[in-house]
Amino acid sequence: MKKYLQTFASIVLSALLLASCGKSADAPAAPEKKDNAEKVLTFIQNLGFSQSSIVDNGDAYIVDNDIRFPKDMEVPEGKPSTEQKWTGNKVSAANALNIRIKVDPSMTSMMPEINSAVNQWNNIGGDIALHFSVVTGSSYDILIKDADLGATTCGRGTYPSGGKAGNLIQIHKAHIAGNSFAQRQRTITHEMGHNISFTHTNQAGGSLIPGTPATDANSLMNGGQCNSGATVLSNYDKIAARWLY
Ligand SMILES: [Zn+2]
Repeated sequence: MKKYLQTFASIVLSALLLASCGKSADAPAAPEKKDNAEKVLTFIQNLGFSQSSIVDNGDAYIVDNDIRFPKDMEVPEGKPSTEQKWTGNKVSAANALNIRIKVDPSMTSMMPEINSAVNQWNNIGGDIALHFSVVTGSSYDILIKDADLGATTCGRGTYPSGGKAGNLIQIHKAHIAGNSFAQRQRTITHEMGHNISFTHTNQAGGSLIPGTPATDANSLMNGGQCNSGATVLSNYDKIAARWLY
């Protein structure tokens, strides 16, 4: 009889647990999503970006106009260290060996520029384990596509999350179409840098990478320099990439 009661009790308990699981699964997912968005916002603020540089864009926060932090991204534990600059959240060593870029049909007209950008990151040289490839299948890490980003924005990258490269690069094709080839590929090279954790060398936010100076006029990762900035990765950009990967 006692055994029977125990079994009965455990069945009732299981039923209650199942019911409560079912209930929470049915509840709107919004609160959890909202919590993560708040975590992402705190993470961005802790990186040292000024409040005025952070814009709520629906599914992501946009920083410095061209960098996306998806609201569902995985936020690293703890505060970033404050010591070329990065987010403290990079692509894992295994993933960095082959970061697969898928080119949306809207961007195939800029394949030469995309290949030039890929070549810049793949030919840094020295002790580095970072490699991009352009793929056509359904498995990829970064989608690059055309997007109308407004009157002044040339492109927009996405920061890495959970050890994976940021999953989206938006290029405002119509806006950069009149630029030189070198400047068009600069925009793509620059946004790729965001997708592997580079922030802007010349703006607040992010942690300084050891061995690089506080300012570098030649850095391709300087922000706000579409159609005027460096078109090749600077020596310090390369030192930063080697330190990261
Ligand atoms: Zn940028």
